[in-house]
Amino acid sequence: MNTIQSDNYPVFFENSIDELVKFIEQGHYSRFFILTDENTAEHCLPLVKSKVEHLDNFDIIEINAGEESKDIDFCIGVWRMLIDFGADRKSLLVNLGGGVISDLGGFAASTFKRGIDFVHVPTTLLSQVDASVGGKTGIDINSIKNIIGTFTQPKAVFINLGFLETLPPRQILSGLAEMLKHGLIQDAAYWHQLKASDLTIPSAQLVHRSVEIKNKITIEDPHEKGIRKALNFGHTIGHAVETDSLINDKDPLSHGEAIAIGMICESYLAHKKTGLPAEELQEITETLNKLYPRYTIKQSDFDTLLEIMKKDKKNQNGNINCTLLTNIGQCNIDNNCTEAELCDSLLYYIN
Ligand code: NAD
Ligand code: ZN
Repeated sequence: MNTIQSDNYPVFFENSIDELVKFIEQGHYSRFFILTDENTAEHCLPLVKSKVEHLDNFDIIEINAGEESKDIDFCIGVWRMLIDFGADRKSLLVNLGGGVISDLGGFAASTFKRGIDFVHVPTTLLSQVDASVGGKTGIDINSIKNIIGTFTQPKAVFINLGFLETLPPRQILSGLAEMLKHGLIQDAAYWHQLKASDLTIPSAQLVHRSVEIKNKITIEDPHEKGIRKALNFGHTIGHAVETDSLINDKDPLSHGEAIAIGMICESYLAHKKTGLPAEELQEITETLNKLYPRYTIKQSDFDTLLEIMKKDKKNQNGNINCTLLTNIGQCNIDNNCTEAELCDSLLYYIN
């Protein structure tokens, strides 16, 4: 698998942990810090540690696993540890974990002493195909997701597919939703290939293609003024359903499960508004319903969901915006959707 060149940084796919060690040595860093959570400390750190053993200028920073750790209080904790361990401007932060670690670590590093170098070693499928590429960092405050953050690129990304072997199947499915999204918005052949593959652990070639798609879009539009909005397909409704499931005492959905629901609803909107053919709507709906568990949404939830959509930070001028498909493999950004249309699309999912 080729190394992908992003916006001034490489994304490694082969011998990635050896490449990481080379990168650290050649960077002449004063010290480096490996940020992990309790799960990556158990499953991924031993390999990394075995490769950097000969270096004596590093420390480990471990936080609790889970989105709760992507919070300002934990960020302060990371900054304090960096200070206590003597980090200076020539230090490096190595983010070893899923999207929580890369978002939090990227943010902490991009602000520490006005910015120190950081690299990502993504260990979940979601972070390999999505969170580690594109330069968004962020933390939550009062459970408002990604409310504080920066656009800062890592110095490199090191993808090791081996880490996925310990990842629970539900987490694999979560990342898979973003891969399916990449096919639907940009590459019909890739969508068909995904549909025909064994996705228990997606192949290196499939992961590579997803990174290529995400990378190409984010290089073209790093600050989400235009084409990067394509990546929001499924996320207007998906994000609302996810938030509602987390804050309103329902069965919490994973990000990917919620995005799968969002993609079904928004494909229905696309059929009504941007000409997605009926057969393609059916193909998308059947594929996603087969892969993801059915989730109960009641009509009495619609008002709450609409309220969440109205507060979405992706909105402009108070309109609820969706990225909609015109065909499988092609999309259209900035479609203003009415509340009635959004409710109809939720009804489509329910029925
Ligand atoms: P996560 O980091 O919480 O990881 C999910 C779970 O898997 C955690 O419990 C973690 O400890 C565990 N885990 C990680 N690697 C493992 C491994 N190899 N083996 C076993 N367990 C492992 O969550 P995530 O799903 O990776 O990422 C979600 C976060 O990413 C969200 O906060 C989201 O906002 C963010 N995100 C950011 C971007 C971006 O562009 N910056 C894009 C998408 C998502
Ligand atoms: Zn997403």
